[in-house]
Amino acid sequence: MKFLDLDELSEEDKLLREEVHRFAKEVMRPASIELDRMPPEERIKSDSPFFKVIKKMKELGYHKLHVPPDLGGPDLTPLQRYIVMEELGWGSLGLATAIGVDMIPFTCAALFGSDEIKEELVKPWMEDTKGEYRGCWGVTEPEHGSDYLMVLRDEDHLKYGKGNVVAEKDGDEWVISGQKSAWVSAAPVATHCGLHAQVKGAKSLVNGLFCVVPLNAEGVRRGKPVDMLGMRDCPQGELFFDDVRIPDHYVIVAPTPFYGVFCDQVLCLTSCAMGAFSVGLARAAFEEALNYARERVQGGVPLVKHKNIKLKLYEMFEKVETARYYVRKAIEYTHKKTLEQKTFDASPRHARLAQIYAKRIAFEVANDALQIFGAYGLSKEFIIEKLFRDARALQIEDGTVEVLSLEAAEDIILNYEKDYYDADVIYKKYEE
Ligand SMILES: Cc1cc2nc3c(=O)[nH]c(=O)nc-3n(C[C@H](O)[C@H](O)[C@H](O)COP(=O)(O)OP(=O)(O)OC[C@H]3O[C@@H](n4cnc5c(N)ncnc54)[C@H](O)[C@@H]3O)c2cc1C
Repeated sequence: MKFLDLDELSEEDKLLREEVHRFAKEVMRPASIELDRMPPEERIKSDSPFFKVIKKMKELGYHKLHVPPDLGGPDLTPLQRYIVMEELGWGSLGLATAIGVDMIPFTCAALFGSDEIKEELVKPWMEDTKGEYRGCWGVTEPEHGSDYLMVLRDEDHLKYGKGNVVAEKDGDEWVISGQKSAWVSAAPVATHCGLHAQVKGAKSLVNGLFCVVPLNAEGVRRGKPVDMLGMRDCPQGELFFDDVRIPDHYVIVAPTPFYGVFCDQVLCLTSCAMGAFSVGLARAAFEEALNYARERVQGGVPLVKHKNIKLKLYEMFEKVETARYYVRKAIEYTHKKTLEQKTFDASPRHARLAQIYAKRIAFEVANDALQIFGAYGLSKEFIIEKLFRDARALQIEDGTVEVLSLEAAEDIILNYEKDYYDADVIYKKYEE
C-alpha cells in the first residue's frame, strides 16, 4: 500500500492507517457490495449488513472523529482525521457518508449544545459501542435543494422563499412541522436527526435554527427507502414532521444571526469530509484499474504495456495525489478554525474547493478506470461499476458541483482580498 508517501508519517499515523484500512477492506467493502445488490426495504431490516458495519464502526470509535479532545473526543491531528476519512471513502462512499451523517447531530450538540443535551445525548452517543445511537442530517427539502447553499451569500436571499420544515416556539418547547426530501442519507435507519428548520412566518431561509429531533418522537414519520443509481449501500428516505414537539434544549443553534454562519461553517467541515471520501473513492478506482491492467493480456501483452493505458494510469495517479494534498491542507486549516480554536471562521471558498476538486477527479478517475476494464467494467463481476455509480452520485450529494462552484465564486468575489472570514454578509441577511 503506497500512498501519502511524501509525508513522514509517525508510527501512530501508520498504525491508525492500517487499522482503518483493515476495517474498510474487511468490514465495509463486502457489506457495501451486499447492500448495493439488495432491494431498499431489505437494506434497512435489523439483520441487514448495514447495522453490522455501524456496530463495528462504533466499537472502533470512528463516530467521535470530529469531537475535539477537550470535549471528550479522540486526541487526533487533522492529518490523522484525514487518514481515517480517506480510508472510509476507499471502503465505501455510501457507508462513509452514513458514518459522516451519524456524527452531525451529536458533534454539533457537543460543540454548540447546552450541558443538559451533552449529558442526555452526546455522552451516550460517544459511549455507544452497539450502534444504538445513529444520526442523520436533514437539510434538503422538496422545494429547497441547492437553495440551502446558495442563500448564504446571495444578496437577493428572499427570493429562495419559505422553508418546507418550520419550527414554532410554544412555551419551553418547539413544535416542528413539514417535510425533508427523500435524499436524506441514513434517514430510514437513524435514531436522531440534526434538523434545519425555518422559524415559522420568517421570510428567509437564513432565519432558521438547528435542532436534534429524536426520530421516535410522536409525529415523526419516515418515507419508504428510495432506490438510487449510486450510494445504494446508504439507505435514504424522506422525513415527515407532524407537529413534533422537542424541548428547548434540543435546539442546538437558536434562531439568531449566528445560525447562517453555523450553516456556512458546518459546510466547511462537511466539504472537507466529502473531499477526503472522494479521494478514497478515486484511489480505490485507480488501484482496481492498476491491478487489472497488470493482469489482463491483450495484443499479446499485459494492458500496462500499452502506451495509452500507461498515460491513463499516470493521469489517474496525478489526480489522486494532487487532490489528496489539497484536501489535507484544507482540513488542517478548517479543523484549526472549527475544532481547535473554535473561532468558526474557516474559509468557505477553500473548503468548497477541496470538495469540488476531489469530487470532480473522483468521477474522472472512476470513469477512466472503467474504460481500462473494457466490457468487464460494466459487469457486476468487478467492483469498478459500483465505484463509477457512486462517483456519479458524488456529483450531486452534499451540493451539486455546479452549485458548490457558484457558491465558492460568490465568496471569492466578495472576500478575495480579505484574509479573514467575513460573517457580516450573512449576519446582515438575518436582520433584513
Ligand atoms: C447520494 C446523496 C446523498 C444525499 N444526502 C443528503 C443528506 O444526508 N441530507 C440532506 O439533507 N440532503 C442530502 N442529499 C441531497 C443533496 O444535498 C441535494 O440533492 C443537492 O443539494 C441538490 O439538490 P436537488 O437534488 O434538489 O437539486 P436541485 O437543487 O433541484 O438542482 C437541480 C439542478 O439545477 C442546478 N441548480 C440548482 N439551483 C441552481 C442555481 N441557483 N444556480 C445554478 N444552477 C442551479 C443544480 O446544479 C442541478 O444540476 C443527498 C443527495 C444525494 C444524491
